Amino acid sequence: MAKPRGYCAGVDRAVVTVEKALELYGAPVYVRKEIVHNRHVVETLAGKGAVFVEENEEVPPGSVVVFSAHGVAPEVHDQAAERGLKAIDATCPLVTKVHKEAVRYAEEDFDILLIGHEGHEEVIGTSGEAPEHIQLVDGPDSVDQVVVRDPAKVVWLSQTTLSVDETMETVDRLKKRLPMLQSPPSDDICYATQNRQQVVKDIADECDVMLVVGSKNSSNSVRLVEVAVQHGARAGHLIDFAHEIDEAWLEGASTVGLSSGASVPDNLVQDVLAHLAERGFTNVEEFEPVTEKISFSLPRELAKDLKAAGRA
Ligand code: SF4
Repeated sequence: MAKPRGYCAGVDRAVVTVEKALELYGAPVYVRKEIVHNRHVVETLAGKGAVFVEENEEVPPGSVVVFSAHGVAPEVHDQAAERGLKAIDATCPLVTKVHKEAVRYAEEDFDILLIGHEGHEEVIGTSGEAPEHIQLVDGPDSVDQVVVRDPAKVVWLSQTTLSVDETMETVDRLKKRLPMLQSPPSDDICYATQNRQQVVKDIADECDVMLVVGSKNSSNSVRLVEVAVQHGARAGHLIDFAHEIDEAWLEGASTVGLSSGASVPDNLVQDVLAHLAERGFTNVEEFEPVTEKISFSLPRELAKDLKAAGRA
């Protein structure tokens, strides 16, 4: 078992934000997009009274709306204000950091090459901070399409949940084309993504099969499966729930690796362990080379209301 795995500080904060908002304001609390990319989390919160919508226009005026951990473009805040919504922004502070970098480089008139996956909510949100300065680079094969105004004023930024190795490959190719390319002041790929990938790399070649608990739309979870296979696991599979494990995957396997994406609560991993134990995999070893101690405070808007209600 890989550790760290599962919930990161940004996901924990986003989920607690919706739970506390439901307690404080009462249901329904609207949530724009999936609060985090995990089916179980979304279904559980929906059961408590959260209503998931795609856009602000689906939210009745005067209601509470929570923005997801992946971040939103500034125009989404403007739309919420125009509609008279009470917006609570659960954007992960590490995504906000990338937004601020984008704004700063745009103010300095840089061309910004944002490495990320086209259509991902985080990329849409970050791009919205400076659409006229940002162009998306979706992996190493997109490098040849990049066009910049001034090769001496270009910087790369990235989505927080990418493969570390593939991102560096993209950066190396960009630097061959643009030798004066600047790097972000600190890592954009977040600590949680990096740690989960590193532990999976460390154990991958001991594993006949690596199981990663996570949803198909969870970028960091999908990357964990890729990293496992690239680093020696004979096979890798992404599953939302234990019952999705195909018996054929375990045939002939003596060692199964297990990890989970940053949006996955650990009870789902424990279900997988129980499922494996029933099939004879009872000797469980946890490998934890790094201990995570990061936590984030709740969004300001919510913390203020909790304090006023004497529930802080
Ligand atoms: S994966 Fe990283 S950036 Fe995304 S919510 Fe978690 S800590 Fe924040």
